[in-house]
Amino acid sequence: MGLFTSRKTVFVDSDILVIGGGFGGCGAAYESRYWGRDKKIVIVEKANIERSGAVAQGLYAINCYMGMQWGENQPEDHVRYARNDLMGLVREDLGYDIARHVDATVHMFEEWGLPIMKDEETGRYKREGKWQIMIHGESYKPIIAEAACKAATKVYNRIMVTHLLMDETRPNRVAGAVGFSVRDGNFYVFRSKAVIVTAGGASHIFKPHSVGEGMGRTWYAPWSSASAYALPIQVGAKMTQMENRIVLTRFKDGYGPVGAYFLHLKTYTENAYGDDYEATWYDSIKQLVGDYVDHQPVPTCLRNHAFLEEIKAGRGPIRMVTKEAFKDPHKETVGWENFLGMTIGQAVVWASQNIDPKETNPELIMSEPYVMGSHATCSGAWASGPEDYAPSDYQWGYNRMMTVDGLFGAGDTIGGTAHKFSSGSFTEGRIAGKAAVRYVNDLGSDQPRVDETELDGLKTMVYQPMENYAIGRNEIVAGTVSPSYLLPLHGLQRLEKIMDEYVGGTSTNYLTNEPMLTRGLELLTMLKEDLPHLGADSLHELMRAWELQHRVLTSECVTQHTLFREETRWPGYYYRADHPRLDDTDWHCFTLSRYDAESGEWAMEKAPVHHIID
Ligand SMILES: Cc1cc2nc3c(=O)[nH]c(=O)nc-3n(C[C@H](O)[C@H](O)[C@H](O)COP(=O)(O)OP(=O)(O)OC[C@H]3O[C@@H](n4cnc5c(N)ncnc54)[C@H](O)[C@@H]3O)c2cc1C
Repeated sequence: MGLFTSRKTVFVDSDILVIGGGFGGCGAAYESRYWGRDKKIVIVEKANIERSGAVAQGLYAINCYMGMQWGENQPEDHVRYARNDLMGLVREDLGYDIARHVDATVHMFEEWGLPIMKDEETGRYKREGKWQIMIHGESYKPIIAEAACKAATKVYNRIMVTHLLMDETRPNRVAGAVGFSVRDGNFYVFRSKAVIVTAGGASHIFKPHSVGEGMGRTWYAPWSSASAYALPIQVGAKMTQMENRIVLTRFKDGYGPVGAYFLHLKTYTENAYGDDYEATWYDSIKQLVGDYVDHQPVPTCLRNHAFLEEIKAGRGPIRMVTKEAFKDPHKETVGWENFLGMTIGQAVVWASQNIDPKETNPELIMSEPYVMGSHATCSGAWASGPEDYAPSDYQWGYNRMMTVDGLFGAGDTIGGTAHKFSSGSFTEGRIAGKAAVRYVNDLGSDQPRVDETELDGLKTMVYQPMENYAIGRNEIVAGTVSPSYLLPLHGLQRLEKIMDEYVGGTSTNYLTNEPMLTRGLELLTMLKEDLPHLGADSLHELMRAWELQHRVLTSECVTQHTLFREETRWPGYYYRADHPRLDDTDWHCFTLSRYDAESGEWAMEKAPVHHIID
């Protein structure tokens, strides 16, 4: 037994364990309670649920609302929209399932106190765009978290989940999870009949634009550390579309959102010489992707592509023309409030760089890539679809259950379903929660059991970085570089460099090819060999160590998927230089992977894309 494995072990039993108290997790807890009045529902959250996850700072718009009560849109319309934006490849059954329920979710948010802006003339919710409604959303997360806290039997804050537990009696069935408290250092064993993973997306996989003291400045939440993918990957759940990383056009340096500017303020972009550049690239994009360029709205990745090409042609920077819109005092207020409600840092960056958008058209930039399943991208776990709607080969049990029995997911965790955003993630959590209750009811006396000997091994492994540090620290007198251990920050920088240089990050203009990916995998393998030597000087650093472990495994999955898909399906998100065109003949399909933790091998396969909606 090592120095740190003498820590107390706390056992928590539940019917349903929700990992991550963000939007998907809050929805999962809420709905589990609705259908499972007698159930023990536990949420475990790495931060504090009141201000955790991607919506921690608040939002200015709910990006997924149909408006069916006013006949504004139907669920089928949303599926068509998401399919178009993802260049044809979405799980239409899952997307439809969210779209048909999402309005009810938003109406509940309003009942719980979320102020939604109204159109004074029509009384309807004020629209920012076809799918977005505007909110006063600084307190969006606390409002939603309150409902989840009331629904849950107990919320465990400040506990980082590191591994899922599997049933000792039946292979491929989940039995709970383990983690440690970032506050008191106790080891937690959550034994549960069903587990819903809702641990958010992945930032800091690729090297961000801002490094050093600015490294926390990323578009997606810096604390979204890929647990949503690594936890299911570790236990052999199939993943899908992990190559489909997202790259976003945002205001430079602060990553301030551009949606409200385009849609509500009607601002537009121009190159450094004041010219509209998108039309310049029409013919070359058509050569790459064919008719997809003629679809409306133009898919996000293709607009990115035009932006990138214009910069490569030497006519950057690209700017957002704000000077005209900001002459209107109402629009000026909206422009600033948009940041103050969710990305206050952008306002601070502009102030520090002497940018008044009334006087100066601010620069835009394309972000580094992120991996997530709820925005204009759809990486994540391969999940069973709704019983009444999914084609038979998309159904193997309960709605939103992964390919591991009893393991469910929602939000960024689930793949193939782009454009769900905050409201759709909560809705998908509700769908998963309802299905998980049914799964638990159906289990009857056939309950999962945890292997006690496995727990001892996991406990030793979880605290190993602290032990490595305590011992190795004596070998050096000063500084951070040791012959015996690797600090989490150093490991993270090594990971980001590999992903950036070999898997299509900013430094190669999002470009990669088979030899680069193969070399990237070799380097990732070497990094993995070093991870048992991570050193952590505190519980906080122990969390960083496990975040890195999750990021590395997820990165390996991203690289394997990118290697497998031999085409460039989403130019503007990344390029396979050796397969530069979209290839609908061979690649109008989903990519699936399965990791074998014993051998460290990945099995890749294709799955059909079923078009259910015309
Ligand atoms: C910058 C930005 C702007 C956005 N703008 C909009 C917008 O305008 N409108 C809109 O509708 N949506 C918007 N979204 C999207 C929305 O925030 C996401 O779709 C939604 O939050 C996804 O929900 P989730 O539950 O998957 O992840 P999250 O809400 O991020 O929740 C994940 C939770 O898991 C926890 N967690 C992570 N790892 C672990 C672990 N190992 N153990 C325990 N807990 C863990 C995290 O702390 C977090 O609380 C935006 C997102 C970002 C980042």
